[in-house]
Amino acid sequence: MRWSKAYIPTVKEDPADAEVVSHKLMVRAGMMKKVGAGIYTLLPLGLVVTRKVEQIVREEMNRIGALEVFMPVLSPAELWKETGRWDVYGEELMRLKDRHKRDFVLGPTHEEVVTDLVRGPVRSYRQLPLTLYQIQTKFRDEIRPRFGVMRGREFIMKDAYSFNRDDACLDRTYKDMHGAYEAVFRRCGLAFRPVLADSGAIGGDVTHEFMVLAQTGESRVISCPNDECAYAATDETAESIIENTAATQEPRPLAKTHTPDMKTVEEVCSFLKVEPRNLVKTILYQADGEVIGALTRGDREISEPKLRRALRADVLSMADPDTVRTLTGAEVGFAGPVGLKGVKLVADKTVTSMVNCITGANKTDYHLTNVNYKRDFSGDLVGDITVVAAGDKCIRCGATLTEYRGIEVGQIFKLGRKYSVAMKATFIDEQGNETPFTMGCYGIGITRTVAAAIEQNHDGNGIIWPPSLAPYQVLVTPVAVSDEATMSVAESVYSGLCAKGVEVLLDDRDERPGVKFKDADLIGIPLRVTIGSRGLKQGTVEARIRRTGATHDVPVENAVEEIMRLLSEVY
Ligand code: ATP
Ligand code: MG
Repeated sequence: MRWSKAYIPTVKEDPADAEVVSHKLMVRAGMMKKVGAGIYTLLPLGLVVTRKVEQIVREEMNRIGALEVFMPVLSPAELWKETGRWDVYGEELMRLKDRHKRDFVLGPTHEEVVTDLVRGPVRSYRQLPLTLYQIQTKFRDEIRPRFGVMRGREFIMKDAYSFNRDDACLDRTYKDMHGAYEAVFRRCGLAFRPVLADSGAIGGDVTHEFMVLAQTGESRVISCPNDECAYAATDETAESIIENTAATQEPRPLAKTHTPDMKTVEEVCSFLKVEPRNLVKTILYQADGEVIGALTRGDREISEPKLRRALRADVLSMADPDTVRTLTGAEVGFAGPVGLKGVKLVADKTVTSMVNCITGANKTDYHLTNVNYKRDFSGDLVGDITVVAAGDKCIRCGATLTEYRGIEVGQIFKLGRKYSVAMKATFIDEQGNETPFTMGCYGIGITRTVAAAIEQNHDGNGIIWPPSLAPYQVLVTPVAVSDEATMSVAESVYSGLCAKGVEVLLDDRDERPGVKFKDADLIGIPLRVTIGSRGLKQGTVEARIRRTGATHDVPVENAVEEIMRLLSEVY
């Protein structure tokens, strides 16, 4: 490809709305252009890289026997009503009406469509397991689209769905997928970790997220530094041992204290001169229509995913201020578990061992002191509903947990029978019984993977492509296109490499060398061959490795062979 014909509109300035380096570099390198919030056009360079990720994913899916299909983006609301997700998916679901005023969905994921696809035609256990996948555009009306294609409202995903006979059959497919995902991200040249995760609203129980390690990642991963244990989970899922801070005090009599206008943990604690960990925080939620009081220690946060799981609720949200006022009889900020009627209490396990603690008094401007579990209140449910923090102890081996940030590039789920039961998708098992499929689903964010690769592979001058994702393997840069000798060597190196099947970009633009070199570093091709009159006088051209900056003088006579040899070292 000749640069003059390639349409790579590089840009000098960072886009104003870009917060992370991959967003900045994808725009500046002419890979994509914004159309609207969270909506991008992939330009030729961006598309080539995207296709490379897709191809790696396709090969690894095919290798484990998954079959590629192409489902429609548009699906009728009826399918979503069958599983109830029409109501519970929330605002992220892009809904629209056709000319007959019928409701439709722009697919954010395809469990409903794929389950509808197999119910009927797949009748016998002999046809199982069956895994179908597609690589396709997804729509999600994200509340905060940002970071370019990392969190778009329209993005490319590989989504796969497995139909299994039973749990053991699903376990095997899940393991194959786990392996295929590791192969995909390894081949993409990424540093990543599979971690235990929360299954969110999609259902199911076992799930792993694949995290690309990056400071700018939106996900917090809690991990055990003990290599033999290697426990790693997202902060929404991770469990830990939180050190017990119960003092060896005798319970004192319950008392009410005036705390005028003290609503936050910090205000109350500094006013009463106690540590936040002596306070029990009470937060009211609405869970599937019921009001819940969630209790944890004052120095810790409630984990909504854990709370939702503990309650087995589909939808969880904070109770609105009016509900709080009605149920507690007090302003927001003074709720407490003692004597709170009409609210189901969920206590974190840490709360049960606290002695003489502080809680809201369910009376504006008052708190209770010397509150004791069991004597003064009890949880209707006790469990782990607290966000884990670095410094807690590992639930498996007791080592001190650490924390890192990651970008979720993929997730695999054991769904079980949630969708097949709801949609009456069954097959005849070996005993002749009508049985719902056991299912799994498996996603990879293709465009997010491209961005994640840049987050991990760049320097101050631009992108440094992992070789497997590079849009071109070699960039041939003639310093001055007006110089005939230079151009003739450039053309022969270019055509020589092309003939060997190498993907080559020839920078044939009539630009100053400084501009060409800057652009070269920006778009990040692994190997650049610079052809200039000075080198040609010595009979050489210069090969430069983008990642290391190392340069090699290569004799003109066997330039193509030498470049091929250097390439094999890079790849
Ligand atoms: P997130 O927690 O980041 O919102 P998710 O868990 O909702 O993502 P999944 O339903 O697991 O996403 O989708 C599978 C994959 O699709 C994700 O692992 C991610 O790589 C990608 N993905 C999800 N949402 C987006 C988005 N808005 N833009 C780009 N890629 C996305
Ligand atoms: Mg996910």
